[in-house]
Formats: sequence, structure tokens, C-alpha cells
Amino acid sequence: MFVTRFAPSPTGPLHLGHAYSAILAHDMARAAGGLFLLRMEDTDLERSKPEYDALIQEDLAWLGLTWDGPILRQSEHIARYNDCLETLVPKSLLYPCSCTRSDIRAALAAPQEGVAFSVYPGTCRHRTLASRQPGDALRLNLAAALDALSTANLSFQDTGPVHKGTHQIDRDQALARIGDVVLSRKGEDIVAYFLAAALDDAQQRVTHVIRGEDLFDFTPVQVILQHLFGLPTPVYHHHRLIRDDQGKRLAKRDDARAISKYRGEGATPADIRRMVGLPER
Ligand code: GLU
Repeated sequence: MFVTRFAPSPTGPLHLGHAYSAILAHDMARAAGGLFLLRMEDTDLERSKPEYDALIQEDLAWLGLTWDGPILRQSEHIARYNDCLETLVPKSLLYPCSCTRSDIRAALAAPQEGVAFSVYPGTCRHRTLASRQPGDALRLNLAAALDALSTANLSFQDTGPVHKGTHQIDRDQALARIGDVVLSRKGEDIVAYFLAAALDDAQQRVTHVIRGEDLFDFTPVQVILQHLFGLPTPVYHHHRLIRDDQGKRLAKRDDARAISKYRGEGATPADIRRMVGLPER
């Protein structure tokens, strides 16, 4: 069965870009007779707010979107993510890292346009897990992980308009572009966005990940993690982004394009579909 999801972070109101993503995923699920799930990616405990969680549900309902089953809130599943990570410990694929807090915080967060994915230079790679101190982050030793897997099997399908086709993950490119990513920071109950999302896609039996093109660069690391955890790789569909008049991707802080604002001004769900270039229902 076709299963997809909409996975917003409740750190601000939904804007036109989210509406596009949610409607697309919802309509594809309904057309396929499948499931449309809702997942709140609220692992950023400082920025996630219950009022945004509630507003997101209100906006989706107003748009005429219905989701199947209960909402999965990632903040309630941190222990599960950490348990999964622990399974990598005996494989010697993780090492503790004490590089600065702000570096690590940035590495754990969801991507922002214009902010390059910074590849870690490997300063702490020599460290063993036995030397782990409270507050250390855990990094994936990517070279060791790729050695443990067969890169020949590492690929994913994209059915979206921008990256349609099969994407093979190349060892040298992965090392140059992804590097030793931070997966968690113990003690503070923080796990990386892309780890929690990859684990939950499997947990929720998602067959099709429909999301913005800005997340395309994260897909290889998610595919590598799926293989390390023995999880299936869903089909990906990275869609175009809705941009503002200056051509910039809309961000949470673009309250001017918040769905709730259009709603308050008397727009209809059909107006929103039109604004983002989706056909009428
Ligand atoms: N939570 C992410 C965001 O709001 C989306 C994650 C995903 O769809 O994989 O940007």
C-alpha cells in the first residue's frame, strides 16, 4: 500500500510552501488509495511550540486535508532513536565528539537554504567510545560505515520533477559532501533531524517520501542510515519549492505567507491551491 507523510517542524506557522507539500502528498496518497500520515518533527525542544502544533492541524483541516491514524510526535520517541543508535556501537561506527556546541547544534538542525552542509574535518575521529564524556556528540564514521556496506547497493529512486531517476551513492562523493555527520547529543536528548526522520519513515511504513527539493541533499545520508539499521529505502519524490517574489525559498519566519494569515483575510482553500500552482479539485 502507498503510504506517505507530511512532517512539519512545529517551530512556526505553515506557509504556502508547506501547503504545497502537504496538498501534494495528501492528493497522491488519496489518488493511490493509500495513507497520508502526519508527523510532528519536534525534536528541537527549544523552538518547537504546542501552539504551532495546534495551528498546523487547524491549517491542514482548513485546507481540507485529512490524515490517517494518530499524529507521531518525535519528542515522544527520543528513547527509541537512542536505542537504535546503540545498535551501531558494537559495529565501531560511532565516535564521541567534543567540538563546540554551536557547531553541533547547527549540524543537528534541519537544513536552511544558503547554509552549506559543512563537512566535519574529523578532529575527534581518533577517539574511542570509551572516552565519551557527558555532553559529547556521537558522530558516524562515514568511511567505516561505507566499508561495512556495499556501496553498489546504495541507491534510491526519485520520482519528482527535479531529480527524476535512480541515484547511486558514490563513496568519494559521500565522503566529500556528507562526511562524519552528528547523529545525537546524549544527555540533552537531541538527535539529528535526518536520523529521526529516516527511523520514523521505517517505523510508519512510509513507502513514498514526498518533500521539498531542499531536502534532496540529505537523502544519501538517510539511505546510508537505512542500510546500517537494516531498514527499507522508500521511493523519494522531491518537489519544487515555492519561492517568494525575490526567488528565495519561503522559511518559517515568512509569516507574511502564513496560511493562517491568508485564512484570516478571507482566502479560500481553492485560492491557496491556485497560488501554489496546483489544479483545482
Ligand atoms: N521536518 C522537515 C521540515 O519541516 C521535513 C522533513 C521531511 O519531510 O523529511 O523541513
